[in-house]
Amino acid sequence: PQRVLSGVQPSGDLHLGNYLGALAKFARIQHEAPTFIFVADLHAITVWQEPSKLKQQVREIAAAYLATGLDPKVASIFAQSAVPEHAELAWVFNCVARLGWLDRMTQFKEKSGKHKERASVGLYTYPVLQAADILIYKATHVPVGEDQKQHLELTRDIAQKFNNDFAAPGFFPLPEPLTQGPGARVMSLRDGSAKMSKSDPSDYSRINLTDDADAIAQKVKKARTDPEPLPETMEGLEGRPEAKNLVGIYAALSGKTDAEVLAEFAGQGFGAFKPKLADLAVSVMAPIGGEMRRLLADPGEIDRVLAEGAGRAREIAAPVMAEVRRLVGFWAG
Ligand code: ATP
Ligand code: MG
Repeated sequence: PQRVLSGVQPSGDLHLGNYLGALAKFARIQHEAPTFIFVADLHAITVWQEPSKLKQQVREIAAAYLATGLDPKVASIFAQSAVPEHAELAWVFNCVARLGWLDRMTQFKEKSGKHKERASVGLYTYPVLQAADILIYKATHVPVGEDQKQHLELTRDIAQKFNNDFAAPGFFPLPEPLTQGPGARVMSLRDGSAKMSKSDPSDYSRINLTDDADAIAQKVKKARTDPEPLPETMEGLEGRPEAKNLVGIYAALSGKTDAEVLAEFAGQGFGAFKPKLADLAVSVMAPIGGEMRRLLADPGEIDRVLAEGAGRAREIAAPVMAEVRRLVGFWAG
């Protein structure tokens, strides 16, 4: 990778899916290329966020970044709203992207639900802002969960059309999603067909990074499963999404393959498997939660990291935005 960018919304408690699909990857990739990791507070307000709580929610995500191994001396960590170029470029991209492209986005359909006329316009143009987040840094690689693949394709379409429309070949790179690896799509503990999400109203649908050992054990115990024992091979998990998800989580947390996990547990029921999974989840997540609590007890360090990161981010974003203004022909360019 030449330049890496990703972000997480401060829209609720971080969960195992965010950790496996995103945060764990950030910590690994930061040593391979210049890395920019932001807290997406502009994205968060696409659904209502309590103003008096939003700053603290930003600190919590930043604390999770640090607790999962991002090093602020290596990666730039900042709040999206501290770099106004994200929103400015998003406006230009709103005029580049086509309605037909956005109409195809499945996340909007899922999140807006039955009453899409009541969703915010921001929720609809969310993927356009996401394209701006990435391209304002001319990022080439974006570590995200599998749910973001479609948005990354839109980002590439926007980059390409901008480069064409404004006669600037190669101005924006066409960024690659980094979605591979175990845990790229962790499913809800209550419904094997829905992804684990911060915004799921049921806390029992997810394991939060800050859950204590008892909460984790309870949630794993209550996780939906089926009465069959674990099979010997992956084919035996076909049509059993909840069972497949728990096996996948065990594999991702232990660094084993699904097949290795099945070799270990084949023939056992969930009564035996779940306590093992709970112990494993506690051993990985409890230290992260502990470090987050330590950092949040005295947020001075977090606030310094965010201020310094925003400075570094603006050094990249401001000249790119100046060039965009010039290319578009804006008066103030
Ligand atoms: P929300 O429900 O508010 O959209 P979210 O749980 O989807 O919250 P985001 O902030 O939208 O979290 O996403 C942060 C990162 O976590 C993204 O890279 C996303 O792809 C990844 N991610 C989210 N859910 C999962 C999941 N269930 N499995 C793997 N990765 C995930
Ligand atoms: Mg999401």
